[in-house]
Amino acid sequence: PPPFLDVRDLRVHFPTEDGLVRSVDGVSFTLEKGQTLGIVGESGSGKSVTSLALLGLHKGTRAQVSGEIWLDGRELVGLPEQEMRALRGSTVSMIFQDPLSALHPFFTVGAQIAEAYRVHHRVSKKEARDRAVEMLRRVGIPQPELRVKDYPHQFSGGMRQRAMIAMSLVCDPALLIADEPTTALDVTVQAQILDLIRDLQEEFGSAVVIITHDLGVVADVADDILVMYGGRRVEYGTARDVLKQPEHPYTWGLLQSMPQIEGDVSRRLNPIPGSPPSLINLPGGCAFHPRCTYKGWVPEGRCTVERPELLAVSGTAGHIAACHLTAESKTQIRGDGAARA
Ligand code: SF4
Ligand code: MG
Repeated sequence: PPPFLDVRDLRVHFPTEDGLVRSVDGVSFTLEKGQTLGIVGESGSGKSVTSLALLGLHKGTRAQVSGEIWLDGRELVGLPEQEMRALRGSTVSMIFQDPLSALHPFFTVGAQIAEAYRVHHRVSKKEARDRAVEMLRRVGIPQPELRVKDYPHQFSGGMRQRAMIAMSLVCDPALLIADEPTTALDVTVQAQILDLIRDLQEEFGSAVVIITHDLGVVADVADDILVMYGGRRVEYGTARDVLKQPEHPYTWGLLQSMPQIEGDVSRRLNPIPGSPPSLINLPGGCAFHPRCTYKGWVPEGRCTVERPELLAVSGTAGHIAACHLTAESKTQIRGDGAARA
């Protein structure tokens, strides 16, 4: 059977006065139900724009979207907004970055979860409210039959995040997208939220996409990892392969810059030097070359002129990376200890 989610050569471009912003430029991946994909990259890598495209949120904007997004046999890119709206919140759902902006301050948490349910189901107010209580219980809110009457400001940050997750899951989505679900939270709550997403995924059998700048966030929960840079894929494979044998210098950089957690304090040790590239004018050759410490290992300045293709990493199924370094060089670099903290 075809994959549950099959994204093919997705492009999302935004025309601006300064030129065409190629936020996502030829991205492909697949995902099965019950599986989790981590999409990892710095801000401006195209990961969030990719997730918004899965929700069809560029329809009716100036964005130029091309490629294909097949979800359970249905192609979403060309789908009329009306049909997309019927899927959004029910079949495809998103946990947004900031619960405070997604939850309305003037309505109770329970009313908002109930309303999210009633948008897609013909049920009485009482049934929708019962469903809201049940969802709050499932995401671990204590005394849900009381807390359902609270307003968002009466919840702690971690509880608001749980309420958001309850709202995202109230219609039992087949595809759940979580964009930086943990950035605003302290490390203990972060771990709880990730555990919660994993538990709910087992219970609901959804396919989950987690978008993050922090490889550490997805290291424990993702089945597959897609690393994006400048709107393109630079490395993609099973989490096991990508974490055990990372192939791309950008992935090495992300691994080295993972926050180290000591007690309740998280410190970022070795940030990748330089800043993300302009999406209007990507550097020629390998887009990562201005920041890459290893381009000297590749002869004849190839990194600055020739764009590396995504090639299969030998010895693994489905692990691909786009870098001119030879397998021997990578082994040597990794073996030097230079590539890992
Ligand atoms: Fe670095 Fe060259 Fe590989 Fe790009 S292709 S990541 S510049 S070594
Ligand atoms: Mg983002």
